[in-house]
Amino acid sequence: MDGTMPLLSALNLRKTYVKFANRIEVLRGVDLDVAEGEFLSVIGNSGSGKSTMLHLLGTLDRPDDGCIHLEGRRIDNLSAKMRDQLRNRTFGFIFQFYHLLPEMNLLENVLTPALITHSFWSWWQHRRELKKQALELIDRVGLSHRLTHRPKELSGGEMQRAAIARALINRPRVLLADEPTGNLDTANGQHIMKLLRDLNQQEGLTIVMVTHNLDLVHDTDRMVKLTDGRVEAPERNSIPTFATAGIGT
Ligand code: ADP
Ligand code: MG
Repeated sequence: MDGTMPLLSALNLRKTYVKFANRIEVLRGVDLDVAEGEFLSVIGNSGSGKSTMLHLLGTLDRPDDGCIHLEGRRIDNLSAKMRDQLRNRTFGFIFQFYHLLPEMNLLENVLTPALITHSFWSWWQHRRELKKQALELIDRVGLSHRLTHRPKELSGGEMQRAAIARALINRPRVLLADEPTGNLDTANGQHIMKLLRDLNQQEGLTIVMVTHNLDLVHDTDRMVKLTDGRVEAPERNSIPTFATAGIGT
């Protein structure tokens, strides 16, 4: 961090699940800063709490302790209604299993978050503009030829691309991706990674991606590791720095 305020910041997050007589201390003091425009990957073994952490960051769930700030404003202690509003506008989510609605076609699926965010009248007023945005996003993810197809008629890679378009319809500040390639073969996984990278680089989208696949992190700006309920000291990836050392030689 270079002293500018992080876009998203988690401090000392704790989360314990109690199941019957068992207490599972999943997060034991997670500290994490995400800079605006950064593509951050979070790795960790299965069960290490990656999904839990992502859900807390995106206000899908609340920490037992600790706090989360978005641009310096605390968001973890907002009312459920405020968190719903914030979540719909600020965060986009993509998941390993896509979570598309099976009865709706691709275009309808992509428009769903916009329908939820707008009141009936607001939707009615903006419907053409929203549909245009959805069509642009669907084009962006390369699925214009699949508009009226239902999820079951799409491949895994296509479903994830549809889910990315859906995640972006409300123009989120941060995309939270939970094992986005976890259910895809290598080629489709690479396609999704390239799409995420392009969205990050070309549109400045901030992305936090959790994965247990180390091969994926090379395409990201920075990697942190979740171990024993904490984020290990950040490591810089060996992304090429355009060093000036060679100039003039
Ligand atoms: P990861 O995404 O890294 O695989 P998770 O965050 O999904 O890990 O889960 C971390 C641990 O918390 C696991 O042991 C899991 O079984 C447990 N866990 C997750 N969600 C719940 C829940 N809602 N109730 C009880 N235990 C949970
Ligand atoms: Mg998980």
